[in-house]
Amino acid sequence: MLVQPHGTARDALTQIEKVLRLEERQGFRDASATVGVARFVGDRTARLLDASDGATRRLVQELDALLDGYTNLPLHERSSSIAEARTILASLMQQTPDDSPAPAVSRPSALPRANLTDTQAAAQPVRSVGNPASGNRSASSAKATPVRAAAKRPTARLSSLSDSVRLLPGVGEARAKLLEQIGIRTIRDLVRLYPRRHIDYSNVQKIGSLLFGHISTIQGTVQSIETSRTRTGKQLVDVVVDDGTGRIHAAFFNPWIERQLRPGVPVSLSGRIEQMRGNLCLSNPEWEVLDQGTLNTGRMIPVYPLTKGLHQKTLRALVRYALDGTARMIEDYLPDELRRQEGVIGLAEATEWIHFPDGDTPAEAQRRLEAARGRLAFDEFLVLQLGLLQRKLDWRSQPGTRIEIDSASLQRFTLSLPFAMTGAQERALRELLGDMGSPRPMTRLLQGDVGSGKTIVAALAALAAIRAGFQVALMAPTELLAEQHSRGLRRVFDAGPDDLRPRLAMLTGSVGGTERQMIYEGAADGTLDFIIGTQALIQGGLEFRRLGLAIIDEQHRFGVEQRATLRGKGESPDLLVMTATPIPRTLALTLHGDLDVSTLDELPPGRQPIETYWASEAKREGAYGFVREQVMVGRQAFIVFPLVEESEAIDARAAVAEHERLSAEVFPDLRLGLLHGRMKPSEKDAVMLSFRDHEIDILVSTSVVEVGIDVANATVMLIDGAERFGLSQLHQFRGRVGRGSEKSYCILLSSDPGIESKQRLQAMVDSQDGFKLAQIDLDLRGPGDFLGKRQSGLPEMELASFADVRDLERARMAAERVLAEDPRLESAKHALLKGRVDAFWQTAVADVS
Ligand code: ADP
Ligand code: MG
Repeated sequence: MLVQPHGTARDALTQIEKVLRLEERQGFRDASATVGVARFVGDRTARLLDASDGATRRLVQELDALLDGYTNLPLHERSSSIAEARTILASLMQQTPDDSPAPAVSRPSALPRANLTDTQAAAQPVRSVGNPASGNRSASSAKATPVRAAAKRPTARLSSLSDSVRLLPGVGEARAKLLEQIGIRTIRDLVRLYPRRHIDYSNVQKIGSLLFGHISTIQGTVQSIETSRTRTGKQLVDVVVDDGTGRIHAAFFNPWIERQLRPGVPVSLSGRIEQMRGNLCLSNPEWEVLDQGTLNTGRMIPVYPLTKGLHQKTLRALVRYALDGTARMIEDYLPDELRRQEGVIGLAEATEWIHFPDGDTPAEAQRRLEAARGRLAFDEFLVLQLGLLQRKLDWRSQPGTRIEIDSASLQRFTLSLPFAMTGAQERALRELLGDMGSPRPMTRLLQGDVGSGKTIVAALAALAAIRAGFQVALMAPTELLAEQHSRGLRRVFDAGPDDLRPRLAMLTGSVGGTERQMIYEGAADGTLDFIIGTQALIQGGLEFRRLGLAIIDEQHRFGVEQRATLRGKGESPDLLVMTATPIPRTLALTLHGDLDVSTLDELPPGRQPIETYWASEAKREGAYGFVREQVMVGRQAFIVFPLVEESEAIDARAAVAEHERLSAEVFPDLRLGLLHGRMKPSEKDAVMLSFRDHEIDILVSTSVVEVGIDVANATVMLIDGAERFGLSQLHQFRGRVGRGSEKSYCILLSSDPGIESKQRLQAMVDSQDGFKLAQIDLDLRGPGDFLGKRQSGLPEMELASFADVRDLERARMAAERVLAEDPRLESAKHALLKGRVDAFWQTAVADVS
């Protein structure tokens, strides 16, 4: 044991602070202490470690780890280490009162004692309201203060959540820029930077039973550390850790780590389990050196989204600091009464616990984290629902057009169809006509699986509007889909009685000059009945004489505002939104809170099911062979490329490589095409067109092929890496085939599915029902993940993924109650809430444009 030097913990911190400051002033020459910075700090932190609680100890360890090996660091890394160290030190000083021998002493706080973590209790900043000398001090002016004074009031006082992060210790220009890259400018941003996840040190897996693809935390002893260079010249540190049940490699691309770990050191690693040359491995995992104290407490370490140059440890310290400095400033925008009814915790508590839910036991920490998520997810849902419902009330309050339904003509038209409508189609049509015939404007979603017959329903609704003397517009997300609609609708109308045939036109970006002019004129003077197109409908100078019905296809591709714009082309025309991405009815009601929902949950009779198989990696060659056979008999195939990353750029690059590989090695004699998200819309359309015209045999694609394009001759959908896709997405892919009379196949190629993926793949094999699959998907993933990017036009709901559908429904009901009492959120108790809702829609609008 070290000899305990005299002095309090506070003195030790003050000494460290002094040296760090000197170091900075002298240009990081490691000359500020005779024994070297690392040793100097290490000697002093040793005595802090003995006499401190868990929270403080963690910070101390971080400080230690950060400066250990300082001597060997290159200059630019030294400066960032010192800056980081000062941030941590600032937090430590806050937790360590001036006069106490031991660092952690509880102080009274605004929150009930029972709700506090020890960190929080210890970390209430010393407040000195009314003391002008300690008022709004910036980090830079604190620097200039003599050491002793700075030790008393070590850091900037935060006066508002809107303060710049520059007020935080350790945040200078460079770091502020980094923070800005992840969207953080103010203290509020920092406090609302929700962790991607937490590392739960009480929930540790054995290396011997790790599962590929899972996010796991392990503990073991460092066996070896080796540094090598990658082909691109980057340094790679390979750390092998053993826990007695097995060993795992951890690859770090940060050479710094080599100086922080030694063989024999107990560590904890946390990250996604990957595979490299047959071995399980972790790539750049979260790591921490273990000590006795770490293991048994209910500790949860937040893991934040990062950008290059910004470290977890820095961010944690900054968030900790921001929370401590602002806990009292967080005002709860939910009225008490509502909070009680919903049984959610207060906002200040939730804000603390979403970051640091540390409790006395792991179970307690877990409960706190859940309570925090529950509260914050509820808020996200509530604000969404309030916004959507307000919008719906707005629409409803406007006088709409009443469309006189010419039932005789519709009947005559229906009888001319070569088939009978399904029960679902008739029901949906009745719902539509009911809305259209009433004076209030229709806002209805028509959802149904691919091939469920939405086109006929839309055509009949359009016909009803046209017979009553109105015009109709249909907007699709791409030229190709607009064209497909145009052809489909013409076919439907051409088969009907001559006198009921509307005058149709198609308007897309590529319609130019005189043709465009003629469409504009026809729309304006009413000689055109039905205009089908892309966003060109809302962009140019298109005006209608009397728009009565606006139809939007593929709802998730358009934002709420675009709907409003199309609608604005008439005087409160009826709105019909169509989507082929079914979502369970309960979720549809809540998610499309501003729409009524009609559902086609029945396919026309006589559909051939798409034969679906699930194949392991060993069957890859066989699967390619099957694709080849189908091409040889004149059919076409899709090969969907496995998702690599969330990044479209990386996916695109990988898809290009895969396309090359398949072209060169697997199908050198066939015609292959490539489709990915980085291509321009016109390039994508060109590729799809040549696929449709059979100039391409096999289309290799990333997930962009999802959107509803019909190529009747395509009979095989091969989905590589199928375990990576959600069930609804797999079903959408599958819907690309089986559009013609030939028997079609879907092959799900999957190398190593986890248990949950197996359930998904098996569900695909067992069912062809989009709604059923969507429900299973929802059950498996929860609403946030399930909705994913689909809710474009709405801001991201960050915490919704932790919630379930019941939370969404609960929020919906709460929103209804709130608006029933106060439709415009005008009462004083809703003032803060109104601010949130308004801000939410501002982001929503900004995201769409
Ligand atoms: P969706 O737009 O929902 O994907 P479509 O409207 O394009 O589906 O219909 C798919 C196919 O089914 C079309 O060829 C259409 O003519 C046909 N169809 C639609 N309704 C029926 C029905 N009730 N009975 C038989 N075939 C139908
Ligand atoms: Mg269709």
